[in-house]
Amino acid sequence: MRTSSVELVILEILGHEHAHLTSLEIYELIRSRLPAVNQSTVYRALERLANQGKISVSDMGQGSAVYETVTDGMHHHLVCHECGRVITLDHKDVSDFFNRLQKNNHFEIITNHLILFGICEQCQNKE
Ligand SMILES: [Zn+2]
Ligand SMILES: [Zn+2]
Repeated sequence: MRTSSVELVILEILGHEHAHLTSLEIYELIRSRLPAVNQSTVYRALERLANQGKISVSDMGQGSAVYETVTDGMHHHLVCHECGRVITLDHKDVSDFFNRLQKNNHFEIITNHLILFGICEQCQNKE
């Protein structure tokens, strides 16, 4: 019972924040609403939601995985290696590329959250 309520709160937080949050950030947000919850319950709930495909998990180069709801449809990101700035891409921006890879390699891609690292415009201009 308590576990499923944790899952609901996670989905609500991720939906509301509309952001990529680390498990620790999620835990801290949940604790302000459910003070009795412990960290491993939150982490297990995150794992379950990810396994069910309700949230995505990605490594965005910040040292720990980030979680995000996938209800907004598929999207991808360009992440600046210098300042951590995140640019969000619509799936349609890369769908041709995906389709070509799938066709040429007879491969079905299941990655639904592509992270490409690079240097953003601002950081390029700094050099
Ligand atoms: Zn994302
Ligand atoms: Zn940058």
